[in-house]
Amino acid sequence: MLRKRIVLSGTVQGVGFRPFVWRLASEMGVTGFVCNRGSELLCEAQASGEVLDLFVQRLCSEAPVNSRIEKAAFFELPPREEEGFVILKSRTGETGSAVNLSPDLAMCEACRRELEDPLCRRYMHPFISCTACGPRFSIARRVPYDRENTSMDRFPMCDECREEYTRPMDRRYHAQPVACHRCGPRVFLRGTELTGAEAVKRTRELLLQGGIAAVKGIGGYHLFCNAMDSESVERLRLLKRRESKPLAIMARRETCRSLADISPDEEALLASTAAPVCLLKKKPQALLPKSISPDNTYLGVMLPYTPLHYLLVEEGDVFVATSGNPASRPVCYRDPEAESELAGLADCVLYHDREITMPADDSVVRVTAAGRQTLRRARGYVPEAVTYYVKGKTPADILATGSDLKNTVCLKAGSRYVLSQYTGDLKYSAVFDRFRETVDSFKRLFGRDPNTVCCDMHPDYLSSRYARSLGRKTVPVQHHRAHVAAVAAEHGLQEPVIGVAFDGTGYGDDGTIWGGEFFTGEPGSLERRMHLESVPLQGGDAAIYQPVRSFVSYMYRCGADLRGHGIIMEALRNNINVCPCSGAGRLFDAAAWACGLRRDPSYEARNSILLESMSSYTDRYWPVEINGEEILSARLVERIGREIAGGMSPAEAASVFHRSVAQIIVEACLALRRDTGIKTVCLGGGVFQNRLLLDTCFTLLQKGGFGVYTGNRIPVNDEGISLGQALIGQMMENS
Ligand code: ZN
Ligand code: ZN
Ligand code: FE
Repeated sequence: MLRKRIVLSGTVQGVGFRPFVWRLASEMGVTGFVCNRGSELLCEAQASGEVLDLFVQRLCSEAPVNSRIEKAAFFELPPREEEGFVILKSRTGETGSAVNLSPDLAMCEACRRELEDPLCRRYMHPFISCTACGPRFSIARRVPYDRENTSMDRFPMCDECREEYTRPMDRRYHAQPVACHRCGPRVFLRGTELTGAEAVKRTRELLLQGGIAAVKGIGGYHLFCNAMDSESVERLRLLKRRESKPLAIMARRETCRSLADISPDEEALLASTAAPVCLLKKKPQALLPKSISPDNTYLGVMLPYTPLHYLLVEEGDVFVATSGNPASRPVCYRDPEAESELAGLADCVLYHDREITMPADDSVVRVTAAGRQTLRRARGYVPEAVTYYVKGKTPADILATGSDLKNTVCLKAGSRYVLSQYTGDLKYSAVFDRFRETVDSFKRLFGRDPNTVCCDMHPDYLSSRYARSLGRKTVPVQHHRAHVAAVAAEHGLQEPVIGVAFDGTGYGDDGTIWGGEFFTGEPGSLERRMHLESVPLQGGDAAIYQPVRSFVSYMYRCGADLRGHGIIMEALRNNINVCPCSGAGRLFDAAAWACGLRRDPSYEARNSILLESMSSYTDRYWPVEINGEEILSARLVERIGREIAGGMSPAEAASVFHRSVAQIIVEACLALRRDTGIKTVCLGGGVFQNRLLLDTCFTLLQKGGFGVYTGNRIPVNDEGISLGQALIGQMMENS
């Protein structure tokens, strides 16, 4: 007889791991026990050597679908006298154990079948779930993930549910959100007597009649309306004060196919347990009002991912499902909050009495040449951790407060980096409150309170001020190094890399605005080697919403005298409110203007998105000179104007511009490789959300023999900053 202790970490709780181990052990005649310990899974198993080996092997290879084993540790123990295999009560974590909790999981097939089966006792139950599906993160108060530590604690199980919950062979064994019509949470339509499926049905009728509904889901409230009804869509836009930003759609699978072209990779993502909003290519014949996504050829689509949504959205229905918050506020998730903020926007409110403890918006993803790209990371992905081991270093706990514009925070415990859900733009006070709440709830949820706090180097960022106010050791981290480090962290890159950060703006080492940067070095100690032309930019941050300032500044840099832009020219000549800026985002703004896209955008980078939409891949590019560290990129803007004046179509000019920027990146990487021998490239920064640019760079660099990495699970935009900060903080801590 041999006995082994097995400790698994990763996503191993809330995904049916213990019953799986129990079933496997019972089947193979292995004795011992299994339990959750902190955020790990602890198992002791005893059998003959041969059986034990096979047990361990099957434990890892047949693990539940939604689990993810990141680390497995084995210890030999002396055998003991025992009979049978049992599941023990959870133990609290020892110090140093990893933070871990499963993200929320979309309804599984087995539950869907029960939901639709009139003979099943959970027929039409809006909260049907099992060990493979249902809420996790959004109902958790603390780890370990057990019922008494979730907001299900106030729903005592009925006898039948308890029976399922305690029978290891049952697929609801220890499924914490398990409930039924008799004992579970309930759905209500505010202002009516209706509950349950009746309330949902009535809401659907109201939607089909042109109404707007606030609907409480897993991570917060949505605003729903009928997407096929352009009047309702217009009304929703007006109420939300959302002028032109695309709206996400919820529809069942067959209906999605009639709206968009879906590749197998996209289909897999759409139907994954995270059930994100996927950006899919619109079918030209789909009869959707243009106002759904006026600026681009893509459509944001998600499947109904909870039983409640599944009951609400029937086959053939196409509903807008946008996050339920008025402009400048974070997503609503508390009932009183929804009452005061959404009641005025919606014609009806469909809610339930299961408390949401951790709010999370829908995640947004798409498929690119570089694989999955996550544009917003929240429900379904948070709090999945990134693991990054540093050899020979003692990992400290770190809190990183991220960036101001697309804020997330990162809590690092040991080698695990847990990135929070997106909170929003901190300049809005309600979002800032949500940010502070997120910091506190992450500390509480995972029971950590780090002594080191990393923040952006920008002295006036609200997230930096907040970091300083905590009275801990603060480590300021340069914005674009954090972008590169985030990519390296996600892919576990330890070796020196060429880091390319193409971004809107960020505070540089020298106090100027950076954003078109090339670094080399280890991910924790990156050295700036080259950059896009540092152009005196008039208006600072105002340029983001007034791209004419970028255009005139770039043209002024090229020596042009623009009549008709006298005031900006005058300010440039007299150096009034002018700051040098190498931001790639501003270069794209200026180029978009030169291509004829001249409206002030209602959201950041809108004109760049329009510029991308009018472009297509070309082999043609305009060569750009490199002067030492500086790439003379401003001339591209002037060139566009000249070519269009000479008869080139704006679409052609936009295409050649994209290809030229990709060429700059390739040539800079080649130069740095010649210099340093480094063959690994990390592409980070919000500009790589430009799919044409990313696809082109990725393909060209791969052809050039580089190992190319970019954000897949972690956004390349500022949502990834806190992860990069924490990684760099860790390296500085130990150097
Ligand atoms: Zn299920
Ligand atoms: Zn029950
Ligand atoms: Fe950035």
